[in-house]
Parts: sequence; C-alpha cells; structure tokens
Amino acid sequence: MAVINKLGNIVAHCPGCSGGKSTFEYQVDGKPLGMTKTSGQKPYSHSGIETDIQYRLMRCAGCGMGAIARIRMHDTGGRYPEDIWDLLWFYPEAKMRASLPPGVPKKIVSEFREAELCIEANCNRAAAAMFRSVLDKVFRANGYKTEKEYNLKLQINAAAKDGVITEARKKKAHDDVRVLGNDVLHEEWKEVKDEDVETAHHYTQRILEDFYDDRDSVIKLLKEAGRKSGEKESTGESAT
Ligand SMILES: [Zn+2]
Repeated sequence: MAVINKLGNIVAHCPGCSGGKSTFEYQVDGKPLGMTKTSGQKPYSHSGIETDIQYRLMRCAGCGMGAIARIRMHDTGGRYPEDIWDLLWFYPEAKMRASLPPGVPKKIVSEFREAELCIEANCNRAAAAMFRSVLDKVFRANGYKTEKEYNLKLQINAAAKDGVITEARKKKAHDDVRVLGNDVLHEEWKEVKDEDVETAHHYTQRILEDFYDDRDSVIKLLKEAGRKSGEKESTGESAT
C-alpha cells in the first residue's frame, strides 16, 4: 500500500520496477513535476468547511515511470509538503501477483490476471466479479458444467464430492468467492473492502492450484467421476 512521507514523496510498489518497492518523487532537480487541485471536505469537519485536494504528478526514482497521487491538504492554500493531511489514492501501484501452476488454461490465466489489475486500479467490485468468473470457467473447463450441475454452487459441491477440492476449500469457494461475486452481480451496490477482495484473490488462486498443481492426479479423479475436461486447451502464462 502506498505511503506518503514527510518530504511529500510516496513509497509504493512500482509496476515499472517489476513490482519492487520504490520512492516516487514529486520534484526533480528541485522543480515540482506538476499539480492541479480541487476542493473537498476538510477532515473531521461536519460543517462543510473545505480544503484542497491536490493531484500531483510523481516520478519513480528507480525507473522514471510517472504516476498520479491524490492528496488531501490540511487547509485551502496549504503548502506542500508541510500541510499534507493524507494520501487518498495513488496510481498505478503494483500489488501482489499470485503465482499460478503452468497447466492453467490461458483464457483462465487471462481472467485471473485481469481481476488482479482491477484490484490494482482499486476496482474491488469488478475484481470480485472477475474472481467469481474465474471459478465459473475453471469448473466448466473441468467438466462440471452439466445439466444436473447447472450453476456454480452445484459445481463446487460436485468437485468436493469427487475429491478434487477439499471440504474446507469448498466452504471458502462458496463463502469468499462465489457469494461475494454474486452480491456484486445481483444485489444492491455496496463497497467491497480490500480484505474481502484479497481473500477472494487468495482462495481463487488456491483453487487453481487444486486443479492444476498435480494435474495427473486430478485428471484421474475427473475420469473416475466421469467428467469430460478440456485437456486440449492451450496453457500457461504467456497469454496475459
Ligand atoms: Zn519504477
């Protein structure tokens, strides 16, 4: 998570530095890179008192990549960096990319990576829906989309019954991925918190590992259960 320091610079993981931690500076050779501002409510103020919201161009000290920071100031006309209140958001920031087994079909890898991009763009609702979509595609690719198992809920239960995923994982697939995604798609708008989307991220990755880490054993289980899996699909990370 990006953090602003007293010097007005931001420490964050940089996509241009392969996700490494770096400092993004607001000035180069003593000259600020650029700023524009709007007004926003002052922190802890309920009487409509406003303060400056600054948008600052920043530069990675490592690779030179540009980025934008949205910063709330203590007061209207406040000085930078002395009067910084807090950092509201910073973009782009690299977050943790989960490693996936090499056998995962390319289209599923692409869906998973796009969900991770959504998290990086603070689009948690979009990410939650995408992780649910990853599960949908994994179960379908492994022969769980049938007349009898016509929805994801039944497919997750069937995979646990076949022994492809554990009972504990079944519960996580339902509670932390499927239901979260369903809420986004079918219920009233509500915020999806960072910790909830990170949990969905984590368990979606674990389910991909369940299906593709020890693929030979899983194929044996799928055959025993009479599942038709799409083994001819191209696989790997290169599609992303
Ligand atoms: Zn960088």
